[in-house]
Amino acid sequence: MAQNLDALRLALQHSPDNAPLLLLLAEGCLEEGLVEEAEQCFHRVLQNDPAHADARLGLARVAFLQGKTSQAAVRAEQVLSDTPTCAAAYLLLARIHVTENELARAKAMYDKGVALNAALADPGIEKDLRGVKPSGNDDSSRKRGAMTSSGAFLESATEDKDEDENDDDGHPRGGAAFDLGLADFEKPKLNFSGVGGMEVLKEEIRMKIIYPLQHAELFKAYDKKVGGGVLLYGPPGCGKTLISKATAGEIKANFIAIGLHQVIDMWIGNSEKNMHEVFELARQNAPSILFFDEIDALAADRRDLRQSAGRNIINAFLMELDGSESNNDGVLILGATNAPWHIDPAFRRPGRFDRTLFVPPPDEPGRAAIIEVMAQKKPIAELDPKALAKKTEGFSGADIKAVFDLATEEVLNQAMKTGKVIPLTTKDLIKAAAKHKATTKAWFESAKNYAMYSNQSGFYDDVLAHLGLLKR
Ligand code: ATP
Repeated sequence: MAQNLDALRLALQHSPDNAPLLLLLAEGCLEEGLVEEAEQCFHRVLQNDPAHADARLGLARVAFLQGKTSQAAVRAEQVLSDTPTCAAAYLLLARIHVTENELARAKAMYDKGVALNAALADPGIEKDLRGVKPSGNDDSSRKRGAMTSSGAFLESATEDKDEDENDDDGHPRGGAAFDLGLADFEKPKLNFSGVGGMEVLKEEIRMKIIYPLQHAELFKAYDKKVGGGVLLYGPPGCGKTLISKATAGEIKANFIAIGLHQVIDMWIGNSEKNMHEVFELARQNAPSILFFDEIDALAADRRDLRQSAGRNIINAFLMELDGSESNNDGVLILGATNAPWHIDPAFRRPGRFDRTLFVPPPDEPGRAAIIEVMAQKKPIAELDPKALAKKTEGFSGADIKAVFDLATEEVLNQAMKTGKVIPLTTKDLIKAAAKHKATTKAWFESAKNYAMYSNQSGFYDDVLAHLGLLKR
């Protein structure tokens, strides 16, 4: 295979824009695990033909292989919106949903793909999806919340809402949608007490975010701006979204969450105006927190999107962030990412996301605290949070939630037989924990490489310290 690849590379030297050759090389590279080279090939095809469906889907596959599932999903959905009969895109979405453990949606995608092209049937996925009923609703925008006319999701984070209106990842699912300019929303009720553990981070947030906003007049006296951008990064499911909402609750600020899909919709609509409106809304309702989830998808794709509408929306975003046209006083822009290494350095310039917070997986006392928070909403016979915390090394908050869900399902099965509520016990939870794998390990494998070999200005020092590779 390596020889074939060399032959293809040679052929491309003579015919550098030959799309079929580039696609062949890309496929060969993917087979050999040369993901970055494959990515370059797909980009080269798109330079000449930005609508090329195979190359666009190729980039979605690359993103998936790189663990950027949200970006992969968005790219696959974009292919489908232009080419609704692209069976391979449905199959890719099915795989993505399987890794996200959204099996009903995976099943819906898989069935559509195989109906279009039976040759793509995959026994591996079928095994994962055995017995799963497809979800009737495969509208992917559902996941990130209700949208305003301009693509913004507005929400007041309340404790009660959290359980009911978050999707399985804890992202806002529904909530009130407003027309921009007419918004009138409550202050969040969720505060730090609803977030288990994270004591160091809470203190950092108090110092970097809360006190400055509470003492704005002091900052004014020193001619220092209050607000600006803070980047939260870390493994998935460790509470970046949750702590952001709770921060809004602590300072009684409004919380405006913009998910990846909303941003992508703004790209597609080529609507810098919408981006401006989102910021304006935050300014008019200051103090407010404008939360951009999966900011890497916005920040990383700048080069790819140079030719398209994307460039405009990104530049519009940077302009709004700089506050060059308007005053961002009292508006805090939080960006969350699992892939900080994909963030264009332009985003981290002074005045933009120049403050960074690492959101690590919870340590043992942190896990015990999260367990206590989660147990408040369940019927529990007896709970030993420390014992369960010991058995959940490396688990994120989302992993712990999955343990509770799994244990609840088991007990519910029993309860349905008897018609009586059977409370959960520590034993049930420990049993469920044994069936669940920590999801943070894979993240640290990638992060370690970046932290060791491209740690410009000590950006990843917190990661190194967490891994015990940096003494402080
Ligand atoms: P992603 O990177 O995947 O978007 P995230 O870091 O933003 O993840 P959240 O969405 O905030 O993580 O957390 C997922 C879910 O995990 C939350 O909705 C909550 O149920 C649970 N969770 C995470 N951390 C905590 C915590 N410290 N206390 C209580 N619950 C937590």
